[in-house]
Amino acid sequence: WKNAPPSLAHCFAAGRAHGDKVFMVLDDERVTFEAFARAAPALAEQLKADGLKKGDRVAVVMRNIPEWPVAFYAASMCGAIVTPLNAWWTGGELEYGLTDSGTKILLIDAERYNRISEHLPACTDLETIYVTRASEMELGDPRARRLEGVIGRPNSWVGLPDRAIPAEALSLQPEDDATIFYTSGTTGKPKGALGTHRNICSNIMASACSQACSFLRRGETPPAADPDAPQKATLLSVPFFHATGCHAVLNPSLVAGVKLVLTRKWDVVEAMGLIERERCNSAGGVPTIAWQILEHPDRHKYDLSSLETVSYGGAPSAPELVRQIGSQFKAKPGNGWGMTETSATFTHHMAEDYEHRPDSCGPPVPVCDLQVRDGDGKVLGPNQVGELYGYGPNVVKLYWNKPEATAATFIDGWVRTGDLARIDEEGFCFIIDRAKDMLIRGGENIYCVEVENALYEHRAVMDAALVGRPHKTLGEEPVAFVTLKPGSEADEAELRAFVAARQAAFKVPVQVFFSREPLPRNANGKILKTELKKQLGG
Ligand code: ATP
Ligand code: MG
Repeated sequence: WKNAPPSLAHCFAAGRAHGDKVFMVLDDERVTFEAFARAAPALAEQLKADGLKKGDRVAVVMRNIPEWPVAFYAASMCGAIVTPLNAWWTGGELEYGLTDSGTKILLIDAERYNRISEHLPACTDLETIYVTRASEMELGDPRARRLEGVIGRPNSWVGLPDRAIPAEALSLQPEDDATIFYTSGTTGKPKGALGTHRNICSNIMASACSQACSFLRRGETPPAADPDAPQKATLLSVPFFHATGCHAVLNPSLVAGVKLVLTRKWDVVEAMGLIERERCNSAGGVPTIAWQILEHPDRHKYDLSSLETVSYGGAPSAPELVRQIGSQFKAKPGNGWGMTETSATFTHHMAEDYEHRPDSCGPPVPVCDLQVRDGDGKVLGPNQVGELYGYGPNVVKLYWNKPEATAATFIDGWVRTGDLARIDEEGFCFIIDRAKDMLIRGGENIYCVEVENALYEHRAVMDAALVGRPHKTLGEEPVAFVTLKPGSEADEAELRAFVAARQAAFKVPVQVFFSREPLPRNANGKILKTELKKQLGG
């Protein structure tokens, strides 16, 4: 893996070569690779003038707007550690991210600036704040300035002078610290995962060659690249601030010249319109997004024939989704498993391999390795269930400011995932559940994912989550939360009988709660089971 591109500066240089092709589209803004390649060095120059040094933290707190990648690359090329924070976080959570990381320069959009303004006095490490899309707004904090004053609005970037990339960028080394991405906070307070340039760049390498590897493994020849093929386009429906959006989509797209179609907020109707208008070849993100497109009653009114892949990851997906995509779309399904701690994609599953093993998340991406171990750390054989461990060039160095969690999670280069899994004889990984998401009913293990997958097979079920409810004698008992598809009906008895026909009796939910709203999810598409448990009064 020494052969991966050494740093983000090399990715930036590769992106520049795509010239006047469109890189990002948002509403009426169309940013070419050329315009992007002018804006990022202009901002980098300003950040250096502000005193930014190698290793300083720069936070990016924005929705998916074209300024996000500009801020990310500008700060990276100065040798800073870029700290993207979750744009869904509250003011208090953003304060945690800024103070935990010791951020010196903050690049933020107007909406989030408003949200955090009363917390800014507590962020004493902050020296400079750039606010974008704030033309009408008073900026109260004395450290705040308008980003437009430095680079203008996206449609004007092509008129900026053509600057060389900063000298600091040329000396960046693969082992240099590059980013702190916070974990989603599904099982506890979000932890900052410190990644290097090599961690990030290995994703670009994996995304470029994992498809070829899957052909080779099956004894087939990978198709030759067609130099005259039209530019590829991706509908980006995951946030840039999540490791997947940045490492698995943004950076590989910059290098490969792929157009990114951005949306202000996820809206399935808008998404279908954009796929048609921009001729997107790939869409997806998290499983729920794929479901929403499949199930939408107006889907046939849109021309979605440009789609070649519908891929997703980040949360468990039901095998039923693979069957539905296969029967209703020309596009191929794809799945990837990964964690913030693995700088995004660690396994990749696609096309025929996935159709034949719809409950797997695939083999590890090239040059990464997976193991399943028992509670004593002993490596288990094929198909035995235990905790999943991962090793490879994308495993991050440590958790920022958290030596104990670091020691418990990063062991001899391996990352302990907290997921239960099995690996078959051919190396395909099957995620059983999160170790913390399993429930034990009177001594019997119930993997929530298994029961959820059974519910997803029911024609009326749109969204399903199983959680444990405390029980006096059994410890816990399974209850389900279900959202039905628009226009469909099913009652509790029917769903319980449906699960009972597919799963052992002790796994059948003792109660089913129906919700008309989609189940609560975080920004990364994961169902917030803690919220559901609160609704149980537990
Ligand atoms: P925290 O670590 O803060 O509790 P989190 O684990 O949800 O939150 P992420 O790093 O965003 O934070 O998510 C990684 C987890 O997401 C994995 O450990 C796994 O449980 C789940 N996951 C990711 N991809 C898949 C997939 N394809 N199938 C099933 N689960 C997945
Ligand atoms: Mg985690």
